[in-house]
Amino acid sequence: MKVIPIPCLSDNYAYLLVDEATGAAAVVDASEAGPVREAIAREKVEVGAILSTHHHFDHVGGNEELAGELGVPVYGGAKDEGRLPGLTNPVVHGDTVKVGSAQARVLHIPGHTLGHVAYAFDGHVFTGDTLFFAGCGRLFEGTPEMMLESLEKKLGGLPDDTRVYCGHEYTAKNLEFALHVEPGNEAARKALAEVQAKRKAGNPSIPSTIGLEKAVNPFMRSASPEIQAMVRGKHPDARDQVSVFARVREMKDNF
Ligand SMILES: [Zn+2]
Repeated sequence: MKVIPIPCLSDNYAYLLVDEATGAAAVVDASEAGPVREAIAREKVEVGAILSTHHHFDHVGGNEELAGELGVPVYGGAKDEGRLPGLTNPVVHGDTVKVGSAQARVLHIPGHTLGHVAYAFDGHVFTGDTLFFAGCGRLFEGTPEMMLESLEKKLGGLPDDTRVYCGHEYTAKNLEFALHVEPGNEAARKALAEVQAKRKAGNPSIPSTIGLEKAVNPFMRSASPEIQAMVRGKHPDARDQVSVFARVREMKDNF
């Protein structure tokens, strides 16, 4: 499957996916119509669906316009019915979505929002605002327990070589924070240098991989002794992993 990132708004990514075996294509997170329309024309593909990760405006702003123009269905989490523009095909955890010969499994990954879903194709996962490269979304609707389960169990359960495509270009700042809470993380230090070079050359930092996230992402590393010691230095009551995770999220909110 070919994945083409489409920069939208100030720091969002929409994606155009093309199943090379059949030429079938889909859009993930149509943030705004203009840049997505241009990418579709440039790639000369026929889009058969829009896949939305969650209801926030910067991920669905182009849904109605594009779905109308292209005459295609809009998939999104069933819990987002009534608040996800253009939603025609609500999906739940375990459902499958086809793009030509490629097939995605829907993962319900609440935390950032309650209806948030990921689309996990073989080798590629689209994580919206739940899992960022080296970070995670703010807990607008869910609890730390939910977010931890979404990140570590559901997304962390995918094969390590799965490429991760997220909703925003926040990577350099996320890696700076990763090194703030875990200064001894050499993998994060190396990733930051690589990401800075990519951004300097005008390229997106994404994708990462699930394996790399487990190595550098502080929100998938709340069991790390260095992170736990750093958090407990400030919050001695943070005894279990969920409390450590919640404190790390709080520290990032104020970083
Ligand atoms: Zn969001």
